[in-house]
Amino acid sequence: MSKYWNERIQKLEPYVPGEQPKDKRYVKLNTNENPYPPSPKVLQAIRDAANDQLRLYPDPNTDDLRETLAEATGLTSDHIFVGNGSDEVLAFSFMSFFSSDRPVMFADITYSFYKVYANLCSLETNVIPLDDEFKIPVDAFCEPNGGIIIPNPNAPTGQAISIDSIRKILDANAESVVIIDEAYVNFGAESVVPLIKDYPNLLVVQTLSKYSSLAGIRVGFALGNPELIDGLNRLKNSINSYTIDRMALAGAKAAIEDDLYYKQMADKIITTRQNTINSLLDLGFKVIPSQSNFIFITHPSIQAETLFHDLKNKGILVRYFNQPRISNYLRVTIGTDDEMNQFLKVLKGIINIE
Ligand code: PMP
Repeated sequence: MSKYWNERIQKLEPYVPGEQPKDKRYVKLNTNENPYPPSPKVLQAIRDAANDQLRLYPDPNTDDLRETLAEATGLTSDHIFVGNGSDEVLAFSFMSFFSSDRPVMFADITYSFYKVYANLCSLETNVIPLDDEFKIPVDAFCEPNGGIIIPNPNAPTGQAISIDSIRKILDANAESVVIIDEAYVNFGAESVVPLIKDYPNLLVVQTLSKYSSLAGIRVGFALGNPELIDGLNRLKNSINSYTIDRMALAGAKAAIEDDLYYKQMADKIITTRQNTINSLLDLGFKVIPSQSNFIFITHPSIQAETLFHDLKNKGILVRYFNQPRISNYLRVTIGTDDEMNQFLKVLKGIINIE
């Protein structure tokens, strides 16, 4: 705390990112980045943008990119809001659609930023425990609430729920906004974007950080009915009109247009995921079923915290969550085949020693 901080920032409880260590070069399987580079067309588009008009502000309405996204999603561009990474889109959504007098619902084991945003907005929360298999208890999300946020697939568990389950949640919640965070939807889950036309309270949030291999340029977007999108624009244009720079706009547009490249990368990641799961099962691990580019694993006889530190000492970075119910689990991002072989080799060494 500092005497210079006002009461607004004194009461915040920010999440402190500790996942980008700089002490040595790691096999980095801890923040769910795509192990493959962006497509050559994307890199060229970013270079071209860097050589053109950088002295001018970017388009605050992100028209070009929204048109491209409209074409890709079958929606019109007034259904689309673009933000500086989906974290910004999610933060803006919490600020725009949830009120302090009605609790917002999310799972006990889910993306850690939801709690941070709820706290930022002084919101009541109704935290719903996942079931014993770490599945989303759909019926609990049909109880009265002031808003819902569910990642599909969930993080850090990696499991997805069906479109029918989400439809059931939407049917029960016509009065509140339901946000489905589809950060990892392209690795085997089903998107609920087609439901937008039937549900004016559905906001789908996606990112270019994972599937499109562009975590470094910070672009995320929301898809929903124009009333919701207008709300997000109203907030954004009151804070900072120019949230996406010219290079990010150009790179994102090229990425959406080059979907075939990314589809092939995602297929590779899905194959590597299955091979990794098979090897982990042979080593005695329990693996939660995954429809994402990461897996959530536990070993019956070795503490996850011990494994995390032993792996880190040997140059392999995975994610450990020191929190109730999952303190014996590790989340491992699916890397290249070579990276996963290194991970498995080091893991075998550790298990034999233990
Ligand atoms: N949602 C979920 C569930 C995530 O795991 C992440 C990334 N860690 C994000 C949103 C944010 O991604 P970005 O800000 O890079 O778009």
